[in-house]
Amino acid sequence: MYNKASLKAEEFISHEEITATLAYAEENKENLALIDEILDKAELCKGLDHREASVLLACEDPERIARMYTMAEKLKKKFYGNRIVMFAPLYLSNYCVNGCVYCPYHLKNTHIARKKLTQEEIVKEVTALQDMGHKRLAIEAGEDPVNNPIEYILECIKTIYSIKHKNGAIRRVNVNIAATTVENYRKLKDAGIGTYILFQETYHKESYEKLHPTGPKHSYAYHTEAMDRAMEGGIDDVGLGVLFGLELYKYEFAGLLMHAEHLEAVHGVGPHTISVPRIKRADDIDPSAFDNGISDEIFAKLCALIRISVPYTGMIISTRESKEVREKVIRLGVSQISGASKTSVGGYSEPEPEEENSEQFDVSDKRTLDEVVRWLMEFGYIPSFCTACYREGRTGDRFMSLCKSGQIQNCCHPNALMTLKEYLMDYASEETKKIGEALIAAELSNIPKDKVREVCEDHLKKIEEGIRDFRF
Ligand code: SAM
Repeated sequence: MYNKASLKAEEFISHEEITATLAYAEENKENLALIDEILDKAELCKGLDHREASVLLACEDPERIARMYTMAEKLKKKFYGNRIVMFAPLYLSNYCVNGCVYCPYHLKNTHIARKKLTQEEIVKEVTALQDMGHKRLAIEAGEDPVNNPIEYILECIKTIYSIKHKNGAIRRVNVNIAATTVENYRKLKDAGIGTYILFQETYHKESYEKLHPTGPKHSYAYHTEAMDRAMEGGIDDVGLGVLFGLELYKYEFAGLLMHAEHLEAVHGVGPHTISVPRIKRADDIDPSAFDNGISDEIFAKLCALIRISVPYTGMIISTRESKEVREKVIRLGVSQISGASKTSVGGYSEPEPEEENSEQFDVSDKRTLDEVVRWLMEFGYIPSFCTACYREGRTGDRFMSLCKSGQIQNCCHPNALMTLKEYLMDYASEETKKIGEALIAAELSNIPKDKVREVCEDHLKKIEEGIRDFRF
């Protein structure tokens, strides 16, 4: 039976509730009075539940869809301003004992190059990432208790935080590793991680079991209940995600929102971020073998609806998406993007020889970080390398209340400008620097509090003199 406060996967992601939700959405998809009522509610910025949001997803009325997009843009501006947080993935190891049928790291793949970074190689990778200007990483690894035990992951995190090359530093390490125990989550928390990210892949239990036929990831309950264990282990920023293309997108969307509602009901705080990956071509993986791929149009609608359903949750788009798609969805509510990503193990310090492919998937957006930063600024965004919130203890519900209070403009906005300034001073090309300096000068006036603006101006001068790492 459906119970969002239950700790059992099959009760908080109830198949019956999702099926009933989809039937309700289908019945009401032309009920314009109800749709307008839901849209009016969304306008209040308090979010929507999975049933309400599913009705909007089913709605095909062009006028209402246009209103959804306009509202998503409005909410995005209200809660995230024009800042886009930058990060890069760092693949530590592609050894994996699972049998995920969409992922080239699956155990039976004998021709992919298996690699695991040594601590010396991590120094090289992180130095290369710092030299690009990155300050925030998401570490990625396959699941393999022998090759990638938790001790290895912890050692890697320690190494990453210890590297200080020129003015570089990695100030926040997010972690995307397989579901694990409360004890291991506590160890990750103690190692100073930012967000724990785990994609559900699919909320449909039967499909989940077929798509993960072997290995520890086969257990739907263990995987789906992972965020509860992470929170029990003290991690209060968790990142959800669905791999779109595996199952029907309407099913996944309802499941995703039910998962967010569950976290809020049990832990008093929803997910910190939601990722929206789509299946990509990879070593022995052909995305067309999966029947549920979604068009760019549906993808944009999903992004807009996530934005208005969970207005305080960040949304992440990776380089799985092309420049064109990113351009479209950033406006609709994305708050974080990766730049200049490599999905191979060891790909940042040295290009991988062709016969040695260790990539997890093909990257669509292959631009350099400097190009991505410039592109963002050219269409009115502030690329932010800020990591202040979690370093100041503003995680979980403390971050959410900052977001809800609207004080973010006095905090995240100047932090974005100061970290952008660091980037411009240390890593940007001349052209990017010119555009960035003009943007910072113009954006200073958007800091509401005079005192905060003055302090920010003073810090910007000090950054020019060589001092680093200011934050509000
Ligand atoms: N092994 C961990 C796990 O099982 O959660 C870490 C995750 S893996 C390194 C990162 C994510 O990449 C997966 O959760 C999956 O959603 C995504 N992924 C796997 N194969 C993919 C593909 N062919 N195209 C796009 N994304 C893929």
